[in-house]
Amino acid sequence: MQGCIFCKIVNKEIPAEIVYENDNVLVFKDIKPSAPVHLLLIPKKHIPTLFDLEEADSGPLGDLHLAAAHVAREMGLEKGFRLVSNCNQDAGQLVFHIHYHLMAGRTLHWPPG
Ligand code: AMP
Ligand code: ZN
Repeated sequence: MQGCIFCKIVNKEIPAEIVYENDNVLVFKDIKPSAPVHLLLIPKKHIPTLFDLEEADSGPLGDLHLAAAHVAREMGLEKGFRLVSNCNQDAGQLVFHIHYHLMAGRTLHWPPG
């Protein structure tokens, strides 16, 4: 979608440190990491928020979870990682293209603020 920064990363119009890619999913490093490992996992399809998901998106979203486990295993994160998605303003969503934060490499406190 025009004007969407994550679509621009999908289309390679702006650079990102891509760590994994398949037909449906892109994984790249967060530009402002909040943990030693901080990746963003996105569906290649532009979907603004979790409220906009349709039945047909369940496959790509399943792929996204498989990609999370694959990347975490490849990176040796057996001690654990967190996968979190912020939806709308109260959760602090800033980029309106669905994304999951994969965070690891330090103790992650619960509940988050
Ligand atoms: P959220 O608040 O859940 O919408 O998170 C958006 C995330 O995208 C933030 O952690 C930003 O640091 C990250 N971000 C924004 N622009 C870029 C970019 N061009 N490349 C990588 N990460 C980005
Ligand atoms: Zn987009």
